[in-house]
Amino acid sequence: MTGAHATVLVVEDSPTMRQLLTYALMRLGDIEVLEAEDGLDALRKLAARTAPVELVITDINMPNLDGLKLIARLRADDATRDVPIVVITTDSGEGDRERAMALGATSYIEKPLQAPKVLEVARRLLGREPAP
Ligand SMILES: [Mg+2]
Repeated sequence: MTGAHATVLVVEDSPTMRQLLTYALMRLGDIEVLEAEDGLDALRKLAARTAPVELVITDINMPNLDGLKLIARLRADDATRDVPIVVITTDSGEGDRERAMALGATSYIEKPLQAPKVLEVARRLLGREPAP
């Protein structure tokens, strides 16, 4: 066993990126991936659950409610105050990254997304051992 069952919420408006993230995360095993297409959808899906999620991975630029506002909302809510949040940034998005970290993001990964990097960050934040 490398860790307990975990639920990860992926928040990304691009279906292609969402799929890439989900496929990468599924490789961890013993994992459930919830997908949301923007911040508002993420808040709705969290509100509909009785159990918390163990990790949130969110894009920044999204319609309805962007990633920065989502981070602020999650950190203001007792239920999600301590959930690790990974923000997806562009290499030109240094300002966004700094804002995200200041709002309480735990870590970040840069686009273009690479599955090994996603896995490395997710494993670390979920307390999973790396594959032998
Ligand atoms: Mg996007």
